[in-house]
Amino acid sequence: MPVQCGEYMADNTEVRSLFPTVYDLDDLMEVPYRVREVDTPVIRIWSPKGRRYDVPFRGFTVRRDRMDQGIVAQAVQEGAELLTETTVTRVHGEDVDTNRGTFRGKVVIGSDGPRSTVAKSVGLDWPVSAPAMSATVEGEFGDATDMFFGNLAPGGYAWIIPKAHSANVGLGTWQHFRGNLRDLFDRFVRSRHLEPGKATGGFVPVMGPPARTVKDNAILVGDAAGMVMATNGGGNNVAMIAGRIAGLTAADHVMDGTPLEAYESRWRAAVGGPLDRGVRIKRLADRFFGSDRLLEAAMLLIGRRRMARAIRCQRLLLPSGAKVL
Ligand SMILES: Cc1cc2nc3c(=O)[nH]c(=O)nc-3n(C[C@H](O)[C@H](O)[C@H](O)COP(=O)(O)OP(=O)(O)OC[C@H]3O[C@@H](n4cnc5c(N)ncnc54)[C@H](O)[C@@H]3O)c2cc1C
Repeated sequence: MPVQCGEYMADNTEVRSLFPTVYDLDDLMEVPYRVREVDTPVIRIWSPKGRRYDVPFRGFTVRRDRMDQGIVAQAVQEGAELLTETTVTRVHGEDVDTNRGTFRGKVVIGSDGPRSTVAKSVGLDWPVSAPAMSATVEGEFGDATDMFFGNLAPGGYAWIIPKAHSANVGLGTWQHFRGNLRDLFDRFVRSRHLEPGKATGGFVPVMGPPARTVKDNAILVGDAAGMVMATNGGGNNVAMIAGRIAGLTAADHVMDGTPLEAYESRWRAAVGGPLDRGVRIKRLADRFFGSDRLLEAAMLLIGRRRMARAIRCQRLLLPSGAKVL
């Protein structure tokens, strides 16, 4: 805390249609649902000139601190040992060095974010990531999730996500950005007449997973493995789905010798398709980011229905039915 998150979760009905092979979602998402605050039925996309496109998309917001605490409590109840204020400094073989001594693990799961120490230690690539920051604003904000595109957030977007008697307000950028993120954030909140509390920053993996997420006895999951949907910046749902696959594969490995490489194919089969498509759509969109005029025209051309597909990392279709991606 303070959390580095917009605190938005996709609803299970959306997750089921995005990732049809993922099972037992109700069980997996029990904690997020327990701490949910506001149901948000629509993503409201704003063009640089203020044109509005309402995309029906079922999501809800959470208190991210409570969500993480709830998930940890579940793990501890199942027998996990929790060590707070313990920083991993290096992983070599089964040894995990920390500021509190060295621990040993038959399998090391690096779920330590986009600048993963585990990845670096074992020689796996970091995902390409971009800066973002957010803060909480008090007040009533309805139930739409707003995304604002244009040079106000070059290559990314700014957001206002409704929460209980407050909103999470933030902004993320990408390759066209050369300045100071804080300045952009301040300009955005001023333009909306918002008075946020303390803002925090972080990195979002925006170009999908690296080629490999398993090496020797180490596996990467969540942001450490770039598991974020490139067209919307969401990584919470995917991290939880892949986290379960990581845990089950580690257990299989220890119990019956299943090769850890099974993790790579298992998670890619479950969520890899949409993640890859999201990157391809983002690459296409990047050609228009950087110029408000071009972006305005592109959004008009693409229209609301294809925006809805882009947000879901689904294939965009030409009016004739031919595939563009
Ligand atoms: C500003 C911002 C807003 C976002 N908004 C949303 C959103 O609204 N919805 C959404 O779905 N996604 C959002 N995302 C992305 C989402 O937050 C991540 O995809 C998600 O948190 C990934 O979970 P994770 O467990 O992989 O990584 P993280 O949540 O980053 O957790 C990594 C953990 O590892 C710990 N750690 C790091 N290094 C070490 C070390 N060396 N030793 C020990 N521990 C370590 C960190 O302290 C942290 O607790 C946002 C990201 C940012 C930056």
